[in-house]
Amino acid sequence: MTCAWRLAQRGAEVTLLDQGTLGSGASMAALGALWPSSVPNPGPLQRLQRESLWQYPEFIRELSIAADRTVNYLRRGKLEPISSEKHLAQCRREVEFATHYWPPIPESEELQPAMQILSPDDALRLEPEAAVKEWGAVICHRSAQVDVSDLLAALRLACKRSGVHIRENAKAQDVAIDTGRPSVSLANGRVESDCLLICAGHGVPSISQAFPLITPVKGQALLMRSNRPVIGHIIKNGALFLVPWPDGRILVGSTTEPEAGFDVSNTAAGVAFLAHGAIETCPALAGARIESVWAGLRPTGPKRQPILGPLPNWPRVFICAGHFKVGIGMAPRSADIMTRWLLGGDITPDEHQFVPGSAGAAATHRSKTK
Ligand SMILES: Cc1cc2nc3c(=O)[nH]c(=O)nc-3n(C[C@H](O)[C@H](O)[C@H](O)COP(=O)(O)OP(=O)(O)OC[C@H]3O[C@@H](n4cnc5c(N)ncnc54)[C@H](O)[C@@H]3O)c2cc1C
Repeated sequence: MTCAWRLAQRGAEVTLLDQGTLGSGASMAALGALWPSSVPNPGPLQRLQRESLWQYPEFIRELSIAADRTVNYLRRGKLEPISSEKHLAQCRREVEFATHYWPPIPESEELQPAMQILSPDDALRLEPEAAVKEWGAVICHRSAQVDVSDLLAALRLACKRSGVHIRENAKAQDVAIDTGRPSVSLANGRVESDCLLICAGHGVPSISQAFPLITPVKGQALLMRSNRPVIGHIIKNGALFLVPWPDGRILVGSTTEPEAGFDVSNTAAGVAFLAHGAIETCPALAGARIESVWAGLRPTGPKRQPILGPLPNWPRVFICAGHFKVGIGMAPRSADIMTRWLLGGDITPDEHQFVPGSAGAAATHRSKTK
């Protein structure tokens, strides 16, 4: 939807096909956590992710106007209790890198550091209910969160208002290029176009075996609600993270189950991991109500990197898929890149790394059968 909206904004006539309803794939399962990769000496993937997050406030502002709808977005930061001496040393390296290389926070009035190590006392002053150990915590002030249902509803509206033709319950069954123009076959006919952009998540290989292998990686999550505000920041504890909203909702994510294939059930072990992890991270949550549980399938490119660009040997066919755990975060930047690929514009050397078949995505192709 982000790609369709951006292309239509630039004057393209866009038809958006979805096999179900728009936003019903992995995106609907996402928790909307937006934290920049804090890996020092980043590669193209970390840079893509960070640049996309730096764009987020402006992206949300533009989207809210285009959709004429509020999209809840908050930048309250992410707190991560430090679990060992080794973890502390790693956090120090990340803080040093962020301090030197991350751009200043544009919307903040005071000069705030991007990341900081907090003593146990300072961490508890900020989050009195968090389980903080003797090494303290690291806070990332650049981390933000977006309400994903707002985001998806606004993207749908922005698409409609910018003239995108939306066709739901329209499953792409095959793609052909024999007329020189790409075409998609549907249950009730074919759609032909000048360009075709495939953003079908883990459904990409089911459209054509010749397309890159995007695999599903299941993630389970749950929603808790407490009677009083318990935490104010995203809190990360190993693989588990809590995303609190001022209305008392706390989203808890997530499991990583590559072996689960296309199964989207919630399992006892998955829900126990999330509930136990939430209480361990913040004991006051023991009394919180569990309101819902769900699971989604993260579209995962080989090397866990997205694939963005033209498909070799498929003239005018492009792909944008495989964003794994950060597809909501990487949406603004990915759509910019795809808009330049489709409508013309400079592609940076970093962005070339995500082209199917490039060095960065070299192992991404299955053998071509078509
Ligand atoms: C539990 C969980 C938590 C997450 N939390 C976060 C988070 O906090 N932050 C973050 O940035 N990311 C998060 N993610 C990851 C994020 O959800 C994904 O990276 C992102 O949603 C992928 O978006 P997408 O549009 O590529 O794929 P999808 O959202 O899966 O969309 C693909 C679309 O293609 C359609 N489709 C598939 N096949 C066909 C076909 N043959 N014909 C027509 N249409 C087709 C589908 O119906 C679907 O609508 C999370 C994921 C999970 C599962």
